[in-house]
Amino acid sequence: MKTLFSKPIIEKEKSRIREEVLALKNNHGITPGLSVILIGNDPASQIYTSSKGRAAEELGMKHETLTFDKSVSVEEVHQTVKKLNEDPSVHGILIQRPVPPQFKESDLIEWITPEKDVDGFHPMNIGKLHLGLPCLQPCTPTGIIRLVKHYGFPLSGKHVVIIGRSSIVGKPASALFLRENSTVTTVHSKSQRIKEICKSADILVVAAGKPHLVNSEWIKPGAIVIDVGIHRQNNKVIGDVDFEDIKEKASAITPVPKGIGPMTIMELLNNTLISAKLSQKVLEEK
Ligand code: NAD
Repeated sequence: MKTLFSKPIIEKEKSRIREEVLALKNNHGITPGLSVILIGNDPASQIYTSSKGRAAEELGMKHETLTFDKSVSVEEVHQTVKKLNEDPSVHGILIQRPVPPQFKESDLIEWITPEKDVDGFHPMNIGKLHLGLPCLQPCTPTGIIRLVKHYGFPLSGKHVVIIGRSSIVGKPASALFLRENSTVTTVHSKSQRIKEICKSADILVVAAGKPHLVNSEWIKPGAIVIDVGIHRQNNKVIGDVDFEDIKEKASAITPVPKGIGPMTIMELLNNTLISAKLSQKVLEEK
C-alpha cells in the first residue's frame, strides 16, 4: 500500500508559484494579492485564515485579513466585498466559512466578482467548470485531481465513486473526474446500496464529513482511496476513512493529516496567481 502524501506536490508547486510571482513582479510590476474576510471568532476559521495568509506571504504574495464581529451587518460586508472587487491590487477574495446566520450562502457566492473568486464558488465559475471551460476551479477537488495525476494513476475509463455531493467538494469533483474521462458515480446520505457501489470503485473519493465512515468492507482490493474528511478528535486529526483498517486492502490512500488538506491551500494560492495573471493578460483567457 502506498501512502499518498501531498508534500512532494506541494513543494514542487510552491516553487513554481514562487517563481511565477517573482516574474510577474519583475516583468509587470504587480504582486498577486489575496484578501480574506473573516466574520466572527470561530477558532478553526481563525487557524485556517492565518495559515492561508502565511502561505500567501511565503510565496511572495500580498495578503490581508479583514475581520468583522459576528454581529456585523450584511450590508457592511457586502460593501467591503464591492470595494475589493474594484481594487486592482486585489486579485483573490474569499469569505471564510462558516458565517453567522444573518448571511445567506446564495447571496455570498454572487458577491465576489467571478474574476477574483479564488474559491471557485461563483455560479459563473461553477457553470464554466461543468461546461469544461477554463475558470477558477474549486480548490479541494482541483487538488484531488492534481494529486492523483502526480502519482501517475490513470483516470480515463476508471470507475470513480464520490461519497458526498456538497457544492465545494463532491459536485465539482464529479465534474473534474468526468473531464478526465472517468466513469463517475456520486453517492450521498439518501443513496441506497452505498457499500455495494463503493466496492465497485477503482478510485473512491470520500467527502462525507463522517469520521471513519469508510472501512475495509467498503472497498475492493487494490482500490485507490482519497480521504477528504477532516475531524479533530481527542487532540488528533482524523479523516472519513479508517486508514488502519483499509491499509492492507487498498493499493493507495491519502493520509489525514498531510494528504488533501494542504493541497487545498496550495490550489487557493495557485488560483490567486491565475487571477493576477489574467488581470494583466499574462495568461490568455480562452
Ligand atoms: P458537507 O457536510 O457539505 O457534505 C457532506 C456530503 O456527504 C453530503 O452530500 C451528504 O449527503 C454526504 N453524506 C453524509 N453522510 C453520508 C453517509 N453516511 N453516506 C453517504 N453520504 C453521506 O461536507 P463537505 O463540505 O463536502 O466536507 C466533507 C468533509 O471534507 C468534511 O469532513 C470537511 O471538513 C472536509 N473538507 C476538507 C477539505 C480539505 O481541504 N481537505 C475541504 C473541504 C472539506
